[in-house]
Formats: sequence, structure tokens, C-alpha cells
Amino acid sequence: MLTDYHVHLRPDDQDASPGRYFTAANADRYRTVASERGIAELGVAEHIYRFTAALDVWDHDLWRRYGRDDLDAYCEFVREETDLKLGIEADFIPGREDRMANLLEAREWDYVVGSVHFLGEHAVDFDDETDIWRYEMSPERVWTRYFEALAESATCGLFDIISHPDLVKIWGKGRPAPEKDLRYYYEPAVEAMLEGGVAMEVSTAGLRKPVGEIYPAPAYLEMAVDAGIPIALSSDAHITDHLAFGYDKAVELLEQYGVKEIAVFEKRERRMEPLG
Ligand SMILES: [Zn+2]
Ligand SMILES: [Zn+2]
Repeated sequence: MLTDYHVHLRPDDQDASPGRYFTAANADRYRTVASERGIAELGVAEHIYRFTAALDVWDHDLWRRYGRDDLDAYCEFVREETDLKLGIEADFIPGREDRMANLLEAREWDYVVGSVHFLGEHAVDFDDETDIWRYEMSPERVWTRYFEALAESATCGLFDIISHPDLVKIWGKGRPAPEKDLRYYYEPAVEAMLEGGVAMEVSTAGLRKPVGEIYPAPAYLEMAVDAGIPIALSSDAHITDHLAFGYDKAVELLEQYGVKEIAVFEKRERRMEPLG
């Protein structure tokens, strides 16, 4: 079994309207390409901030700019016009857990992907005026804050899968790295994932970013696997061509660390299926 759950039906572009992308024909294109690439379990996880409902959770400038679409219409479209699993990529916003819970609990997801994209008001993966690196100059501070947020996201009870679990490395050599052994940052995150009973996402999206490496780093994956954390496999595709992107590398990495099963979700219940 191969999965691709953390999939977007459209690019991260404000003008990518539901009318153009949330269509049976577009879902069919995704299904066809995924099948050609051996993906049996395909699901979508649109960014929560693309929906107006998210503005009740947080009113960050970026969310106000992007939050235009109707969340229930998205759910209805996926359930009624496609055979895809229904997921959502929800940000972890500290202090807003109750509001996020209200939004999530009102809909019947197959899985919720939890993401840390922001540290306070500042973004981890946006190279613009919101970029955290313009405000926090020490890599130790950025990495500490990122992994603290990630640990909180794992134990807050909102999410089934912790996505791109070392997104902070996205810029690769474009930002300074902490001098410490990076396992210092990974360890509390792994403990939190274990405590929270969540799956860790192995995401090939990192291969397409400046860092050029799968999320998580090998040493981090090894720690998670040793701790017995279930692994969920995804590409974070935003176009059909990115479905199952780099899966040969991902499967090789997983096998190297002895992973034999991956997580499959339905109505927020997790079960394990043989990898491959
Ligand atoms: Zn993300
Ligand atoms: Zn995503």
C-alpha cells in the first residue's frame, strides 16, 4: 500500500478558485495520475486558511488575504463528487485550540493534518515580510520555537498526522543552522508525538524545496521509528505532477529504518497497512 494524503487540488495561489479546481474532472486527473504511480489511498487536505471559516479561528493578514472559500462546499464536493479521502491541513495556532476544535469537530474528516507554518505572527516557510528569520536572528531560537510549537501541536488533540515535521529546515543553506546536534530538537518532538498518539508524516515535499531533503531528516525519522510512532506517507502535491513525487527515495529511506507499515485513515480511525 502507498498513500498520498497530504494533497492539494490547486496551487497556493490566491486566484486558484474552487470553481476551477474543485471539480470532478480535476479530481479524476489526480486519481488517474496517482493510480499510474501506484497510489491506492489518495486523499486531499486543502489549507484551512483558504476558507472563510478559518477567520473565526485567526485573523492574520495572510489568512484574511487567502480566506475566501466555503469550507462546507469543499467537504460536500469531496464527499459527493469524488472518491477521495477527505482531509484538511490545519495550522496549529497556540491559544486558538478551542476555536480550531469547533471548526474541525463540525465536519466529518477522514483525517486532519496538523501543520506548524507560523511562530507567533511570523511564517516558517514564506520568504516575504512575514518570514520569521527577519525577526529572530539566532538559528537556535528559531529551531527551539519551531520544535516547541510542533510538540504542542502533537499533544493538543486536534490532529491525526503531524505534517512536514522539520519544515524549519526548508531554506537549507539559505538560513543558518543551529550548531547543536539536531537530535536535541528532535527528541522532545518525538516524545510529544508518542504522547499525543499521532502519526508522523514523511513528506517528499522537502525534495522540491531549497533544502532538497525529505521531511523529516534521517536521524529524526530513526528516532521516531525507534519510538514506535506510526508513519504516514505523502507528497504535499499542489499539482498532479507532484503526486507520489520522490516516493522511490521515501520508500527506500523507510525500508532502511525498518518501517514495514504505513498509516491509513478513515473517519479519523487509523490502521496500519504494509508499506509498498
Ligand atoms: Zn504545510
Ligand atoms: Zn500542504
